[in-house]
Amino acid sequence: MSTVGTEHELSVYESMAARFDVAAAKLQIDEGLKRYLRSPNREIIVHIPVAMDNRELKVFDGYRVQHSIARGPCKGGVRYSPDVTLDEIRGLAAEMTWKCAVVNIPFGGAKGGIVCDPSKLSMSELERITRRYTAEILDYIGPERDVPAPDMNTNEQTMAWIMDTYSMHMRHTVTASVTGKPLDLGGSHGRREATGRGVMLTVDEALKHFWWKRQETRLIVQGFGNVGSEAARLMHDEGYKIIGVADATGGVFNTQGLDITALLDYAKQNNTVNGFPGGEAIGAQEILEQECEVLVPAATESVITSKNAHKINARILAEGANSPTTPPADDILFERGVFVVPDILANAGGVTVSYFEWVQDRQGYFWPESTVNERLKSIMVAAFDEVVHYGEKHKVNNRIAAYMLAIDRVAFSIKLRGIYA
Ligand code: NAD
Repeated sequence: MSTVGTEHELSVYESMAARFDVAAAKLQIDEGLKRYLRSPNREIIVHIPVAMDNRELKVFDGYRVQHSIARGPCKGGVRYSPDVTLDEIRGLAAEMTWKCAVVNIPFGGAKGGIVCDPSKLSMSELERITRRYTAEILDYIGPERDVPAPDMNTNEQTMAWIMDTYSMHMRHTVTASVTGKPLDLGGSHGRREATGRGVMLTVDEALKHFWWKRQETRLIVQGFGNVGSEAARLMHDEGYKIIGVADATGGVFNTQGLDITALLDYAKQNNTVNGFPGGEAIGAQEILEQECEVLVPAATESVITSKNAHKINARILAEGANSPTTPPADDILFERGVFVVPDILANAGGVTVSYFEWVQDRQGYFWPESTVNERLKSIMVAAFDEVVHYGEKHKVNNRIAAYMLAIDRVAFSIKLRGIYA
């Protein structure tokens, strides 16, 4: 049962902490270690002065939270949004620690964000904001310390600017300072589609539990950015029937299945899926409640709450986004028998290929896409099996199983290392 009341339901940190508390109690972690694992190592707040195109000087608030370095350098995305808060970044940083541990890669968790609305900023303003943010947190990042990656409203170009700024200060090119970079700057094949591919790989495994075939599986995707559009494209190509897609401006729905190739072209031209002629218009929240076998929330956090969880009409929920479901909603979904592939497993394909990118940059030796995809598959399938078996063994749902597996691994590393001073 969740320990978070509905008054804190929308707090990403409280949601993480509520799940952590349940998992840590099951693992019988001692109180001191629990306190340590629950809080971040370091929180950095910066106020970034930026000259706008009209020469006005504005100040933007930025954050970088580093949750844990117990198993390796910190790793986590940087997001740009007017809604970014320290609470959200703190919660997502901890989730990154658990995510890296679930897929057993040698990183701890971090997250960053800048409070800004990229839709109202020019490219040159975005570049100046990104470079000054990087300069402000420079002492705390780097290949051995903390490695940023793209997240909501940031992309390969953002990573190229961060890498260049970091490299200028180091006086040499440090490609391993970020992941999710353009291929020509030391990026990895397969990184752009990695999170979507990971979602597909975990859904493929979940289908085996129901003895379903891809062709018989109706799928709905909320969010059509990096994660949602790549998941939809790959799963459409593999035979899944995608009956609904939505982005922030609205959605499109067709029980006969959407032509995803045409929808991708439409979204590229119009910057939205709204108005696509191949289906009926539907609201971005309403789409979550339609009947389907698999629902993939791949947009943003807290879209499935105590208010709408009882209306979810899917058998499998595969969380492409971070923290799309609140703890009170977890309980409702559990009672209703929804098979949840939790975010720290379902969307871990992105950080896994980021790990591959970091390894390739440090080796200066790059792998073909087939190698990246093969290695991603073996990690995702193994992690899925471990989580499901852990849940069966300890009689907990998949989310708590994933948390328990992760916390156990991080706690073990801390016990081996001991506490410094
Ligand atoms: P993005 O900015 O590329 O795309 C976000 C999409 O969600 C856009 O289509 C946007 O219109 C839509 N959206 C936003 N708010 C919405 C709402 N309320 N209703 C419906 N649609 C909405 O971001 P992304 O990189 O695809 O990330 C999406 C989610 O996945 C985030 O939670 C992110 O933290 C998580 N995630 C991303 C990665 C990655 O590799 N990019 C990896 C792991 C997790």
